[in-house]
Amino acid sequence: MTIVTYPSDVLSQRAEKVTAFDESLRTIAQQMFQTMVDGQGVGLAAPQVGLSIQLCVIHIPEDPHGEVALVNPEIVHAEGRQTGEEGCLSFPGIFIDVQRAMRVRVRYQDLDGQPQEIEGEGLLARALQHEIDHLHGVLLVNKMTTIQRLANRRSLEMLRRRTASAPQEAAEAAQATAPGDAPPEAPAHP
Ligand SMILES: [Zn+2]
Repeated sequence: MTIVTYPSDVLSQRAEKVTAFDESLRTIAQQMFQTMVDGQGVGLAAPQVGLSIQLCVIHIPEDPHGEVALVNPEIVHAEGRQTGEEGCLSFPGIFIDVQRAMRVRVRYQDLDGQPQEIEGEGLLARALQHEIDHLHGVLLVNKMTTIQRLANRRSLEMLRRRTASAPQEAAEAAQATAPGDAPPEAPAHP
């Protein structure tokens, strides 16, 4: 799978609900886990591989939950506050401080369509919020304050040009440089 970079249209669309829990959904999830690991990320949402469906995968190495694939996820409770640096595989080389809830509870369906809940704190909570944002078309660039947007103006402009001219190259750059979908204070591979 190839990672889609900003400003590709699929990233800013609201993803479709998943209704078919079949073998192909499992295959997509498996391939997304692999793509996430290759990109040294701790999370990946389906729109980031060009699929506008409500599926995301998360794996934080030190977290006991292990690999989690979330279908049609929804935040049902959020509390507390944390601010930390975030990157995104679709925004290679860009890291900004983002304020998130410290703890979230998320209701979702597993790959068999069974209802599940997961509670996350700290990094897991941040990853859950980041990936669920993706499914609503909300991106790192939408989280930027005016000052952050100005500070990253050049990087964003370069990314726009690179995505427009050579999407494949941008995707490779994403895999080479970004911990992606993870705050650098606790990257999978520093
Ligand atoms: Zn992301």
